[in-house]
Amino acid sequence: MTHNSFSQYNLSDPILETLTLLGYKVPTPVQQKVIPLALQENDLVVKSKTGSGKTASFAIPICQLVTWDENLPQALVLEPTRELAVQVRDEIFHIGRKKRLKVPAVFGGFPLEKQALTLKQKSHVVVGTPGRVLDHFQKGTLHGDKIQYLIVDEADLMLDMGFIEDIRRIMEFIPENKVMMLFSATMGVHVQRLTEEYMKTPIYIEMEDKE
Ligand code: ADP
Ligand code: MG
Repeated sequence: MTHNSFSQYNLSDPILETLTLLGYKVPTPVQQKVIPLALQENDLVVKSKTGSGKTASFAIPICQLVTWDENLPQALVLEPTRELAVQVRDEIFHIGRKKRLKVPAVFGGFPLEKQALTLKQKSHVVVGTPGRVLDHFQKGTLHGDKIQYLIVDEADLMLDMGFIEDIRRIMEFIPENKVMMLFSATMGVHVQRLTEEYMKTPIYIEMEDKE
């Protein structure tokens, strides 16, 4: 296709309109690879450098795929830090705004009870740091039964920060039969191990650093 735009992906109008509002005219190289495969609900392992647009590469398909009518969360996005959780939550919220998607963020250093109240309401996509996400699952303030999409973002950082045990325990609260997508700027041995442990036949997308 010579004409490269977001309209080639069969996205619904509310999503396409918000991309225009955000000023996203052309998908970045990693988005061109990831969006169609994610929309088809493939397990993905994506290596692409920082700043290449990985967030929207999963945020756009997730916003498209979740059903508005469901009250329990359908997607869970794990982020290594509170700052990233907020930033990614905001991007998903903006992309899903016209679809009126609820996107709560949960992270440490903020009262659990207040977050629990937000989680009690309808939510489509939950973004959070592993420790706090696990706390909410264990307290029963977050329900994983309807989660169909698990995104492990910044996987290299996440594993460097020692979140592997939290991730393992989080897996026990969400259905085994889900789509899992892992994003990372680098592909070290820990990321490989996590992939082998939890993903059967993922599609690997490795972008050149120049892209
Ligand atoms: P990464 O997660 O790969 O480090 P981000 O997803 O944070 O990168 O994206 C980097 C920047 O590029 C962000 O400011 C984002 O808003 C912007 N961006 C992402 N996709 C597009 C696009 N298709 N067109 C223009 N800007 C984009
Ligand atoms: Mg990122």
